[in-house]
Amino acid sequence: MRLLLIEDNRRLAALTAEGLGKAGFAVDLVHGAEDASAALAVAGFDAVLLDLGLPDANGLTLLSVLRARADATPVLILTARDGVDDRVRGLNLGADDYLVKPFALEELVARIRALLRRPGVALGMVLQQGNLAFDSAARLASVAAKPLDLSRRELDALELLLRRAGRVVSKAALENGLYGFGEEVGSNAVEVLIHRLRKRLLAAGATAGVQTLRGIGYILAEVPAEKGAEAGAESGQ
Ligand code: CA
Repeated sequence: MRLLLIEDNRRLAALTAEGLGKAGFAVDLVHGAEDASAALAVAGFDAVLLDLGLPDANGLTLLSVLRARADATPVLILTARDGVDDRVRGLNLGADDYLVKPFALEELVARIRALLRRPGVALGMVLQQGNLAFDSAARLASVAAKPLDLSRRELDALELLLRRAGRVVSKAALENGLYGFGEEVGSNAVEVLIHRLRKRLLAAGATAGVQTLRGIGYILAEVPAEKGAEAGAESGQ
């Protein structure tokens, strides 16, 4: 498995590359966006580790260029602790995961392995959970291969939740990801949106659903088979 590590902090970069090498990965190391673009143009990588604060460009720009040319290589963002907006923007731009610095090498290795296992990786840009799928290139959601009719915001919310499937997404992260800066957002806008999305998934017989963790956030996960079957029966299957 070949990784591209893009990190301008040379000490951190060298230590990380060494650790990843010991964990069995082949690592190419670059310290800026220009060198990263050159490396990505000539070599295929199984995953990219991307620091956002680079001397010659914002890592997010590099990410959007990559996704704009339909390159689905998994990207894990490395960010500062206070970079919540960057993380959400990165996930919206098509990053697959992120890790906050300083991180433990063991966690980085585990996250990379998880990324490489994800069905989305083998299938290009399709995120899947149970019979629920989201094609992030075509921006189409489907349940059991039948297209779901969702609003743009519902699709955006679904994508954010799917990219973090099985993990909690805070209400603030959803607000940041779904609404632009300066946009008026009602205090219960996210709740209403998630409520609608949940109903649509249930009605379509999805075997994955959105749970609310009161005061914490939301989590998209597969629902137990029985519940999924009931939901399917409701929609006449
Ligand atoms: Ca940096």
